[in-house]
Amino acid sequence: MKHILSLSDSDLDGFLKSIGEKPYRRRQIYDWIFKKGARDFGAMANLSAAFRRQLGEHFTVTSLEHAPLQVSSDGTVRIDMAASDGVSFPAVILKGAREGALSVCISSQAGCAVGCAFCASGEGLKRNLTRGEIAETFLAAGDYVARCGGERNKITSVLFMGQGEPLLNYESVAGAISDISSPDKSALGQRHITLSTVGIITGIRRLAADGFKVRLAVSLHAADDDLRKKLIPRAASKVATLLEAARDYAVSSGTRLTFECVMIKGVTDTPKRLEELALILLRFISERAAFVVNLIPFNENSRAASEASYFRAPDGKDLEAARDYLVSRGIFTIIRSNKGRDISSACGQLGV
Ligand code: SF4
Repeated sequence: MKHILSLSDSDLDGFLKSIGEKPYRRRQIYDWIFKKGARDFGAMANLSAAFRRQLGEHFTVTSLEHAPLQVSSDGTVRIDMAASDGVSFPAVILKGAREGALSVCISSQAGCAVGCAFCASGEGLKRNLTRGEIAETFLAAGDYVARCGGERNKITSVLFMGQGEPLLNYESVAGAISDISSPDKSALGQRHITLSTVGIITGIRRLAADGFKVRLAVSLHAADDDLRKKLIPRAASKVATLLEAARDYAVSSGTRLTFECVMIKGVTDTPKRLEELALILLRFISERAAFVVNLIPFNENSRAASEASYFRAPDGKDLEAARDYLVSRGIFTIIRSNKGRDISSACGQLGV
């Protein structure tokens, strides 16, 4: 049965018209699902019983099974979801630094074809997630907040940083972003949504052409093309080409860029690699767009341990030295905290 959240607005309008219902019914349905937390049509009390039955004959509101939650000692929550065809994928709810800030990190694909050497998700693509599955993941995070006594609409940011490369599943991800940000649905501003990409140039340019205002986080990791290719074997574009596309997106969308750099001891954190990073960012980006560098300490995981067993995280003082060097070059740089490590939910650990 089709997931109702996989329909575009016009698809749903077409269905409503085909059964003789008024267009305003679409807004009522979305209101129940996104704002009131209805997870089946039977709960939609201001729709007639006959209409609810018709909806139930054609669509489902939920399609995913949830494994028992895992809760980290730092409060991070991991939800593993399984679709009826057996594929599973995680989402992670993280507390932000600000009081009340709550982020959900969601997957765009089950598995991933990109194969980053440091990432547990890179063992191969199982399939793209549908628009409905991605939107349902976001709603599941809100449901968890509601079960804990909070308000389901208190998710303050969404990170497309779970399993998968979002721009290799463009249609579903773009649709889900619309669902999360639409005033009729969850109404989370696009500037509170961050999409992380290894740099799919066509996807970045399409985001700009389609008028999206989400924040782009570019998984850069290294300025040197050869080193970057070792870390991201299927990265197709040159670093310079990627930076130009990211810069153009930031300019057209009016958003700030984030460059993510995994810090691997002796690989990406050496003075030479940091200098290369500073030079290329200052050359391609700094005059035109605001940006921040996130240094992400490498997290050990089963896949990286087998394929690149020499990968290690830098010591805390080396991480701070890397940050201080980039700051000394005039680059706003932060060290990302490693939340959820004890439940395999930190960056690079989201295998299943
Ligand atoms: S870091 Fe992202 S793009 Fe790379 S393998 Fe993991 S999920 Fe895929």
